[in-house]
Amino acid sequence: MALAQETKRITAQFEYTDEDVNTGVQEFLRQMNEGLQKDGTSMSQIPTYVTGVPNGTEKGLYLAVDLGGTNFRVCSIHLNGDTTFNLTYSKVAIPKELMTAKTAQELFAFLAKQIELFLKTHHEEHFEAHTQRRQTISTPDGFADEHLFRLGFTFSFPVQQFGINKGTLIRWTKGFDIPDAIGKDVCALLQDEIEKLHLPVKVAALVNDTVGTLMARSYTSPGNTSTLLGAIFGTGTNGAYVEKVTNILKPVEGQYDKSTGNMVINTEWGSFDNQLNVLPNTSYDIELDKMSVNPGIQMFEKRVSGMFLGEIVRLVIVDMLKNPNISLFRDENSSFNDWQSTTTIGGDSTIMRQWGLDSSIMSIAAADNTPEFSTLRQQLESQLHIYAASSEDAQAFKNVAYAVGRRAARLSAVAIGAIVLQSGLLSDGTDEPIDIGVDGSLVEHYPYFRDMIHEALSAIKGIGSEGTKRIRIGIAKDGSGVGAALIALVAAGMEKHNTVGHNLSAIKNDITQKVMAAIPETGSSTTVV
Ligand code: ADP
Ligand code: MG
Repeated sequence: MALAQETKRITAQFEYTDEDVNTGVQEFLRQMNEGLQKDGTSMSQIPTYVTGVPNGTEKGLYLAVDLGGTNFRVCSIHLNGDTTFNLTYSKVAIPKELMTAKTAQELFAFLAKQIELFLKTHHEEHFEAHTQRRQTISTPDGFADEHLFRLGFTFSFPVQQFGINKGTLIRWTKGFDIPDAIGKDVCALLQDEIEKLHLPVKVAALVNDTVGTLMARSYTSPGNTSTLLGAIFGTGTNGAYVEKVTNILKPVEGQYDKSTGNMVINTEWGSFDNQLNVLPNTSYDIELDKMSVNPGIQMFEKRVSGMFLGEIVRLVIVDMLKNPNISLFRDENSSFNDWQSTTTIGGDSTIMRQWGLDSSIMSIAAADNTPEFSTLRQQLESQLHIYAASSEDAQAFKNVAYAVGRRAARLSAVAIGAIVLQSGLLSDGTDEPIDIGVDGSLVEHYPYFRDMIHEALSAIKGIGSEGTKRIRIGIAKDGSGVGAALIALVAAGMEKHNTVGHNLSAIKNDITQKVMAAIPETGSSTTVV
């Protein structure tokens, strides 16, 4: 039973108690408000100039691309105007070598190529028509403006935004490291590569995935309730929420619609508590951080998101493998196992390599409640080349993964709970749901992730079990695509106003007003049919 005991000792280090949750919430509120007061704090609290959220009646066909960390998605979205949409999409993994390419151009050329492939595959007629048109029309880029696809660019890295389709990269996260791109306008980088391929596409809007998720959830969510928070639990983690303008004490440059009294704030909560005032810090967290490309930053993200959870589990497992006093994935156990074979870790197993364990196996471990863990053991073989693990081995692996996953869910509740408290909605005297949209493989696929969040929320002072009942967390499926389309729609509306003589600078940063204004017009201003 040495293995079981040692597993218990290690998993105890990942316990994150109700008291820890409450301490975390207080510090999260403090750092949130600090970020609303000044620049240069751990949580950036970036004003997005989005001053409201959609209501489900918006219409049109748009392109959207999403660079989120692990995958690059290209999609076209038809917003039907009745809270529904149709979506066609393709997805490709970002080649690892491009994440640390020498120049930004290499990465963005790859992205433009994927857009070209998508158009050829899914919008061929349109693509052909425009390729021919190009030769006959003499506008600078060869296309009549109204025939361009408007594209919403979901770019989920910290960006200083200067306008609806203009923003410079502040820093890379999630394993990307292309110094050449820092300080450059990412929309211009993409547009340049699109133009090299002569595609009929205009990068119309720059969108953070959290804002996209918030917009998409608000478009699709049931009833009239508007959404408070859009949150991502995928490769990375981050959230954007609706804040009262009066709480934003640092200067917000440029113009925006003040009529709603609200503005969406991109928290960049992945950097919550980089100073480690309250975050748990096991030896495994320390080692992960030390070996990462960005030591000392994104410290919350490194304990919560998909990119890192598998690595934490891996570091624990490696530690256990090296411990001579216990036997994990070794012959001793396999003499009892039902496969009648010898447990071996294949020479090509990635378990000893950094990033060698994908978080998805944690979901499989959590879901496998069979007595023999046959599914988990199969995955240990196929994913990690760990052959003929015993039930005891599988149980130990499952417990480690669960401890790491559960801590992540409870930390997620810290962020969500703090934002619910900050909104003041719990004391608004109604029993309306407080709506939260979430997206990302972790929250979507990890069994009971949302239940574990709810459980932790109910332990928060000021929320409790009554408050928790009002908090409705819904998956914003394809959130970033639909959200990007919604913001591209706003941008198209803004361009249109500009051509009929409105003062663009006056409406430049005003998103909501245009979402609302675009509702009756969009049917006719649909860019491509
Ligand atoms: P992105 O962040 O690029 O938008 P995703 O939301 O799909 O992409 O998140 C990808 C991350 O989620 C990866 O780090 C991957 O390891 C992790 N992941 C993928 N599938 C699962 C799963 N079933 N359970 C837990 N984590 C997963
Ligand atoms: Mg994503």
